[in-house]
Amino acid sequence: MARVFSGIQPSGELHIGNYLGAVQNWVRLQDQHECIFSVVDLHAITQPYEPQELAQRTQDMAVGLLAAGIDPARTVLFVQSHVAEHTELSWILTTVTPLGELERQTQYKDKAQRQESVPAGLLSYPVLQAADVLVYQAGLVPVGEDQLQHLELMREIARRWNARYGNGFFPEPQPLLTGAKRVLGLDGHAKMSKSLGNTIGLLESPEAIWAKLRPAATDPARKTRKDPGNPEVCNVFTIHQGFSPPPVQAHVAQQCRTAGWGCLDCKRVLADHMIAALTPLRERAAQLQANPSGVRALLREGAERARAIARRTMIEVRRRMGFLEPTERGGD
Ligand code: SF4
Repeated sequence: MARVFSGIQPSGELHIGNYLGAVQNWVRLQDQHECIFSVVDLHAITQPYEPQELAQRTQDMAVGLLAAGIDPARTVLFVQSHVAEHTELSWILTTVTPLGELERQTQYKDKAQRQESVPAGLLSYPVLQAADVLVYQAGLVPVGEDQLQHLELMREIARRWNARYGNGFFPEPQPLLTGAKRVLGLDGHAKMSKSLGNTIGLLESPEAIWAKLRPAATDPARKTRKDPGNPEVCNVFTIHQGFSPPPVQAHVAQQCRTAGWGCLDCKRVLADHMIAALTPLRERAAQLQANPSGVRALLREGAERARAIARRTMIEVRRRMGFLEPTERGGD
């Protein structure tokens, strides 16, 4: 059974963009593979953030993942900073990573442009990503199209380390393309992102879901109720594809193209399907939130399982790289 690794940043509560774009797929992957999933807090600190909020955001993300169906009995779920081997391997991999490759990464260039002073951590972000995967010798990484460049760099880093220290030790991770359609924010323009205020949280109440969906952007061609639309260019239809059953999606597309109904009718149908799908998740989350120490215990157990694998990898990495082994007190 192939081993899968993936991570998600602790942005707080999961939103439907995270869910449809990644987490729904993670839940399915648990049936087919050995999965290791992490809340990657060490990645989150490469962007400006509030230290007093980080722990709560991390806990909230873990609650969201558990409520969405990540099953800690089958899957290793843990917080990245709880397993120090990630940072140790990251430093080691930095020594075989070409600087030019890091500087060429599109995401680095985008983010660096927006910052006056660029921290080196932003540049070496993909090296930590490589360490996240390679420390578990994971062979598969679920990614969207926009992450393929980082995955190719990860494969290059594995090849370079293998060539220098141990051919075949690190597998070259393969992409598992999710195939999920990218859900835009409710404004219909930008990526769905909590910082842009254009999200619907996965655990929101039915009233809040409707209040946010009601004014959401649709196909601009539908200026009046009589104007036919094109569901393929409408973000509301993309969300339908995540929550409504196929016969409903077909009905939506037909009603849209023939101006058989207005966008508000369409959104009401979507809201009903979203609420039906998300209510059990909200109920599970409420149980988890009522027992924060239980969630912490699950994360501790996840970190112990992750650390056991990561330690074995690092013993072999250190041995192949020729480091002097530490001795126990009183040893030779
Ligand atoms: S009818 Fe539905 S799919 Fe068509 S434009 Fe309006 S909201 Fe979008």
